[in-house]
Amino acid sequence: MRFEQAKRLKSLPPYLFARIEKLIEEKRAAGMDIISLGIGDPDQPTPEHIVAELIKEAQNPANHQYPSSAGMLAYRQAVADWYARRFGVQLDPRTEVVALIGSKEGIAHISWCYLDPGDVVLVPDPGYPVYAGGAILAGAEPYYMPLEEKRGYLPDLSAIPTAVARRAKMMFLNYPNNPTGAVADRAFFAEVVAFAREFNILVCHDAAYSEVTFDGYRAPSFLEVPGAKEVGIEFNSASKPFNMTGWRIGWAAGCAEAVEALARLKSNLDSGQFQAIQYAAMAGLKGPYEVVERVCAVYRERRDILVEALNSLGWKLEKPRATFYVWAPVPPGYTSESFAEMVLEKAGVVVTPGNGYGPRGEGYFRMSLTVDTGRLREAMERLKKNVGPVRF
Ligand SMILES: *Cc1c(COP(=O)(O)O)cnc(C)c1O
Repeated sequence: MRFEQAKRLKSLPPYLFARIEKLIEEKRAAGMDIISLGIGDPDQPTPEHIVAELIKEAQNPANHQYPSSAGMLAYRQAVADWYARRFGVQLDPRTEVVALIGSKEGIAHISWCYLDPGDVVLVPDPGYPVYAGGAILAGAEPYYMPLEEKRGYLPDLSAIPTAVARRAKMMFLNYPNNPTGAVADRAFFAEVVAFAREFNILVCHDAAYSEVTFDGYRAPSFLEVPGAKEVGIEFNSASKPFNMTGWRIGWAAGCAEAVEALARLKSNLDSGQFQAIQYAAMAGLKGPYEVVERVCAVYRERRDILVEALNSLGWKLEKPRATFYVWAPVPPGYTSESFAEMVLEKAGVVVTPGNGYGPRGEGYFRMSLTVDTGRLREAMERLKKNVGPVRF
């Protein structure tokens, strides 16, 4: 049997990591000890008080029935309280917060609320593949906004042709940024609000790494900027600050109109997340917040090990102030893929080719800090020994 797949599925961009994944499999099968810096998934466990809350709430039969798709009011209140404490942003938990089954779920589904076939959506390049993927599934056309090193990986809004801006219905942004590790300040967010007002664009800000920051840097929320709540919705989740990627719990907050649209769409698709998991995420948001500081301290140590090792080999990287990624140019003479393959062949270390995050990622590679510190040191030793100094 052969079933014709829907155009929407067939129109998704090709999966660019297939080649390197096949190569990794071959090397492993041949007995090579592979250290993967390719996966952005916290390696440390979920803090104990959060796990304890899950266990307690899982034993309460009141949590065994269908939850509400929008999330418990107590959960949405906990998100609103966290926004007030963390960012000084006031949110109405009834109308301005909706629970998500991980922020990826909401990021993919918001496109279904606002995009019709042929509509334009502004997407960062390089960027988290879900922005374009969700939009393409809804039939829309992504317009890629280049994120360039010389502009600190912030898009140049004035470079977006007016005709494109007029057609655009939504814009995705993500700071602190995956894959570049870049951060944005309130002045940039204010520019975005003005642009969104001028062209009537819904801003979808992905703040998944707002809590993964170093050296005293505190990432702002997009919603802190005056007028942001009228034009924007912000996505975040328990995944990164609390090592809870497997639990699937997040939220969207901001513009009431967009929150309502997303909640209504979701009420037709899912029945929400297990309430015991909502309680567990609430425990994370309520604290003790030192657990987040401890998580960040581990990433900071690893960041220093990695950046200092690469710089000793000829790179000139600045230490990223946020996220658990280091984004670096490939040496002259390589493409993203040929460099990743060479590093795998010679050192048994997996790095992610930058072109997997969009055309502008070509010429770069990404390394993730979510690997045991001892193994990361070992990976750096192998690069020094087997890849050697490079010249830019
Ligand atoms: C990890 C990550 C997320 C979070 O995904 P969840 O679905 O909440 O686990 C969102 N955006 C980016 C850019 C990420 O890297």
